[in-house]
Amino acid sequence: MLDKVSSVFYNLKSADSNEEMQNIAKEVSPLLSEHSSNIMLNEDLFKRIETVYNKRNESGLDDQQIRVIEKYYRDFIRNGAALEGKDRDKLRQLNKDLSMLSLEFGDNVLAETNENFVLLIDNKEDLAGLPESVIEGAAEKAKNMDEEGKWAFGLSRASMTPFLTYAENRDLREKLYRGYFMRGDNGGEYDNKEIIKKMVAKRAKKAELLGYETHADYIIEKNMADSPDTVDDFLIKLWDAALPVAKTEVYDMQKIIDNEGKDFKLAPWDWWYYAEKVRKQKYDLDESQLKPYLKLENVRDGMFWVANQLYGINFEKLDNIPLYHEDVEVYEVTEADGSLIGLFYLDYYTRDSKRGGAWCTSFRGASYDEEGKRIHPLATVVTNFPPPTEETPSLLSWDQTTTLFHEFGHALHGLFTDGKYDRTAGVVPRDYVELPSQIM
Ligand SMILES: [Zn+2]
Repeated sequence: MLDKVSSVFYNLKSADSNEEMQNIAKEVSPLLSEHSSNIMLNEDLFKRIETVYNKRNESGLDDQQIRVIEKYYRDFIRNGAALEGKDRDKLRQLNKDLSMLSLEFGDNVLAETNENFVLLIDNKEDLAGLPESVIEGAAEKAKNMDEEGKWAFGLSRASMTPFLTYAENRDLREKLYRGYFMRGDNGGEYDNKEIIKKMVAKRAKKAELLGYETHADYIIEKNMADSPDTVDDFLIKLWDAALPVAKTEVYDMQKIIDNEGKDFKLAPWDWWYYAEKVRKQKYDLDESQLKPYLKLENVRDGMFWVANQLYGINFEKLDNIPLYHEDVEVYEVTEADGSLIGLFYLDYYTRDSKRGGAWCTSFRGASYDEEGKRIHPLATVVTNFPPPTEETPSLLSWDQTTTLFHEFGHALHGLFTDGKYDRTAGVVPRDYVELPSQIM
């Protein structure tokens, strides 16, 4: 019951939050952390798990069952079950503190993204360079803020990226860019610097307590990469390959700036704007001319078509399921023979109650009940796409299109998951989880 309610609550807190939910989260997060510690640090329970674990290979368990007991055993160890005396209390307190800090961190970022910054334009000349659909979206955003006749730009990607890509006014580009990158770093009530310091210190303490060299060692242990050194190797390889390419791009962009007779060095808030100019000049590709072909509904239907061609599955929109917001759609996903796989929710548009980015999660994972009956998964994808305006449907950029396919890959992973136990069904290492999304 608790898992069921928590996953619904925390999913909604990401997708459609409000002050009341934030306050509830602050109240229940330490309780949940305490509850989890009570289970993980229960000595009698751990003794039983250890007994099953030690005899796992000689007690007739099948492969899935062996995997499940290995996972549980490791969970308990990683959460301090092998600790003694005062160390157990220390860990309990660290976990509680960390859960509160990460909550505050997220709430601050949300406030700094959606409430504390807006670029309000009342001079039409400052809109020079922007495509018509972007201007309409900004007018609508201003209207919703009771600033009719003006144009508003915020720090959601849907609002910010087009402005940084097309707006000719360099000072305003800088203002918006700084607004985004200074989130949580403006001093005052929503500043995250102290929170980060505390989190780093507490994570280091927790790692030390559990016998790891660093927090990174603690985290990576569960993953396929296995050690922080492997991760560093990957990053260096990527860096070596990417740096010369980035330098060529900077050279191309600076050339355009110089040819325009302007006297400045390429700054971060120029990157989108001049990258777009390079694209036009070098490849004759105009992103805004691509957009009309990428109407949200068409991209969605294309995505379902691809899944049908690849996997034979079908999607049918349902109108008889209660939804948490009017922007949300839900689809029934079925096999070629008509049997039910699960439900798939889509929550498209950017709004103030939603955190930034795009993600896939589930209201319920796939598993089986005690009688062996399949529990159908409820997968959901949340994105921050531009809402339609009165004149224009929601048009996606190429980036947003691949983002939707990417998140859809995660959703298919959740929908196709077929395991007996929810500890292992669909639960994979963090650095494996991107495989299905990359395939899509
Ligand atoms: Zn992903």
